[in-house]
This record gives sequence, C-alpha cells and structure tokens, in this order.
Amino acid sequence: MALRRGFKAAARRLAADVRDELDIRAFDPLDPYALARLYGVEVFTLDESWLPRDAVEHFTGTAAESFSGALIQIGTGSVIVENHAHRDTRRRSTVAHEMAHVLLEHEFGVLVTSGTSCRAASTEVEQEAAELSGELLLPCDAARTAAFRGWTDISIARHFRISEPMARWRMNVTGARRIARRTRDRWVRRPCHPVGA
Ligand SMILES: [Zn+2]
Repeated sequence: MALRRGFKAAARRLAADVRDELDIRAFDPLDPYALARLYGVEVFTLDESWLPRDAVEHFTGTAAESFSGALIQIGTGSVIVENHAHRDTRRRSTVAHEMAHVLLEHEFGVLVTSGTSCRAASTEVEQEAAELSGELLLPCDAARTAAFRGWTDISIARHFRISEPMARWRMNVTGARRIARRTRDRWVRRPCHPVGA
C-alpha cells in the first residue's frame, strides 16, 4: 500500500516546522528526546516504568527484540516507554517513531512497537509514522546535501546519530544520490558562464 497522495510533502513541511521549533537546521542531528519534551510527552525507560521487575528483565533480556517502545495515551496527553537495552541509534529511532504518531495525531490508546512497527496500528498509520520519523531524523534536504558532499552512509549515520540501515533507507527513498549525480552531470555538460561574460 502506498502513502496517500501529498503525504511525503506534508511530512517534509511538518518535519521542517518541528526543526524550527527546536531551533535546529536541516543538517543538524535531531534529538527525539528534546522533541518529546517540546510536546510535553514524558519518556520513561523500562526500568523507570511501572512494570514489575521480572517483566523488565524479560524485555531487556531474552525478549529484548520483542519490545522497542510503547506510546500510551493518558487522558489528553501521552507518554512513551522505551527499551533502554537497545543501542542508542535504535532508541532514538523508536522515540522519533512514537513522536511521529503524536505529531500526526493518530488515534491510539496504546501502541506497542515490537521490531520497527507497532502491532495494533494499521499499515497506513505505520507507513505515515515511518515516513515522518525518517524525515525528522534525516530530512530530504539534508540527504541531498550529504549526497552532493559525497558522504557515505556511515558518515551520514554518524553525523545524524542514526543506524546505517536507516541512513541507507533515507538516501534511497529520497533519491538523494541520483539527484546529486544528475545535477553534477548537467554542470559538466553546461558549465556556468564566467562572471562578466
Ligand atoms: Zn507505530
């Protein structure tokens, strides 16, 4: 199933607005925890949650893969519980994903994220959250700038504090390198006129 028409453009605008609110530019890494704070969403790690001790041990131990995070609606607000046993890039991605649901005002009671997507959510809602969280962490404009600079996926991942697969995915879906290559070819064929000519 494809995203509804115009959603990608809307997600870009929304992510750009959020960066303005956070006072960061397109090429800066985004801190999903700061984003949560900005929207009054508290983030708890599993051991700060109300889960019993053996449940925490379960989800941070043998079943660590089955729980990335949860978004829980409480009254008019919401909180995020995230799995602190995961590496930082994954935790940042989880919090960004949950915040994307908040920003998109998706209807939910409790959303539990197992791998990278939420169990109970519809495909459409999940695709929207994935697209927006990707745009938040590595905006299309930043992907293009990185492509023009010839950055590798590894450099991009390090700079934006995302995983390499996430960097690769964003560089692909934004077509950043293809666009950079095409533009460069055009420059080679049609060099700029010298100043004053
Ligand atoms: Zn989700």
